[in-house]
Amino acid sequence: MTPVADRSHDVPAQAGRRCPLCQGDNRCMLARATGASVADCWCAGRRIAASTLAAVPLALRGRACLCARCANPP
Ligand SMILES: [Zn+2]
Repeated sequence: MTPVADRSHDVPAQAGRRCPLCQGDNRCMLARATGASVADCWCAGRRIAASTLAAVPLALRGRACLCARCANPP
């Protein structure tokens, strides 16, 4: 067993483009285009349920955008 360093403060560069729940492409404009504003992202007008946000790992909250599928579960 190799000890795993605590990386909870250090989100990998790719994290911004991947949904923290399903690891799929989140299509987040902020991660995609430099200089984009959050208003350009599809998520700008969405309300995401607190229970959905609670499922996101703490280290990724506020950093990685969810994908449309995970943000609005059926
Ligand atoms: Zn997802």
